[in-house]
Amino acid sequence: MSSYDVIVIGAGVIGASTAYHLARLGAKRVLVLDRTQVGAGTTSQSSGILRTHYSVRENVALAQDSWGVFADFANYLGDEDAASGLVKCGYLICAPEGPKLQPLTLALEGQRQQGIEVQLLDRQQAQALLPIADLHDAALIGFEPQAGFADAYLVATSFARSARRGGVKIMEGVEVQKLLIEDGRVIGVDTNMGRFMAGTVISTQNIWATQIEQWTGITSPVQAERHTVLALEGPEPYTYAMPVFKDLGSEGMLYCRSYGGTQMLVSEGVAGEVLPSPDNEQGDVSLDLIASIGAQAAERFPSFETAGLASSWTGVYDVTPDWNPVLGRLPGISGLVVGYGFSGHGFKLSPAVGRVLAQEALGLTPDISLAPYALERFAAGRPLRGLYGVGAVS
Ligand SMILES: Cc1cc2nc3c(=O)[nH]c(=O)nc-3n(C[C@H](O)[C@H](O)[C@H](O)COP(=O)(O)OP(=O)(O)OC[C@H]3O[C@@H](n4cnc5c(N)ncnc54)[C@H](O)[C@@H]3O)c2cc1C
Repeated sequence: MSSYDVIVIGAGVIGASTAYHLARLGAKRVLVLDRTQVGAGTTSQSSGILRTHYSVRENVALAQDSWGVFADFANYLGDEDAASGLVKCGYLICAPEGPKLQPLTLALEGQRQQGIEVQLLDRQQAQALLPIADLHDAALIGFEPQAGFADAYLVATSFARSARRGGVKIMEGVEVQKLLIEDGRVIGVDTNMGRFMAGTVISTQNIWATQIEQWTGITSPVQAERHTVLALEGPEPYTYAMPVFKDLGSEGMLYCRSYGGTQMLVSEGVAGEVLPSPDNEQGDVSLDLIASIGAQAAERFPSFETAGLASSWTGVYDVTPDWNPVLGRLPGISGLVVGYGFSGHGFKLSPAVGRVLAQEALGLTPDISLAPYALERFAAGRPLRGLYGVGAVS
């Protein structure tokens, strides 16, 4: 069969979630195409942190809704073997006196207004949760118990398996080369494996969303940005019981979490290296960057002064001008729905985003509005800009 009701381009965690939700909502003839394999794009490079902490209210709503899915993943999918790898260790965020204090105060207050459990901790209470940290300069500390981290690859493949069980066809190794448009309507796609017809196409292509611009002439304001992640082996373990930690006081706005129950996964939450074209191959990890991240980590975690580098890798973000995704229909073309530009924080949003993209594509009213995420927000001067400046904490 080469004719479908809906075609999804891309089987990362966003495309796999979208496909699953299409089936869950009753769509019958759904095809997912991926040029490589399920979850093998930027999803496989994710740090996997799950939190609802955002200064952009719309993101809080998507993350809150998604947390409910992560916390009950196997049940939600109706698949007792489905796993997300969730470690529910909570999320600790702190700021010293200075420019990040007011944004953190406002974001924590906003979360509370949206019904999120957020505790304000003193240094001693925070220290008890994360005894390996030195929090002497923390002027404000927020703790979100319903948070932690999970495995983005596991989640993508679990969504994909449940989508298949729901009747979705997933083809790997198939690259979409062109979107077919007739009289302003999408009618299908051309691929390296031939032509597939569908009146609705959903693009969840991440950094490769620049292809949408080539196919339609409609701008795709997304650029590929490479980031480096380190795993450090310190003299004291960073255990699974210790919370994810966000350090707004460090130069690189570091984020850290347990890695394997003993090591520390650490990376910077600021702008990365802009790549000339979309490419998620491993990049070089410079000694200077290792030294810089290591020094920042040791400032906050004194015993990590003597930590060793256990491993390192790079991953690529699909960054938009306001560090928030573009979700929904594009102007002037019917039948095309997009979800790209997650700017390094899309995993935690993936269950809800998949559902609302599926609802939009099927002509249902999304139960969380896509309007704030419309592409048109950039031209209209209504960016979803977070209070922390550039960086995935948004
Ligand atoms: C280093 C790093 C750390 C991160 N940490 C976090 C975190 O802690 N918490 C969090 O919430 N998020 C995090 N993220 C972000 C999160 O992982 C991503 O937002 C999410 O995985 C993106 O999923 P996706 O489906 O959009 O993209 P991808 O996984 O990249 O999937 C896109 C897919 O589209 C396919 N494709 C593209 N073009 C075509 C075509 N023409 N034809 C066929 N197939 C095509 C690709 O092969 C790919 O599989 C991080 C990301 C990175 C890189």
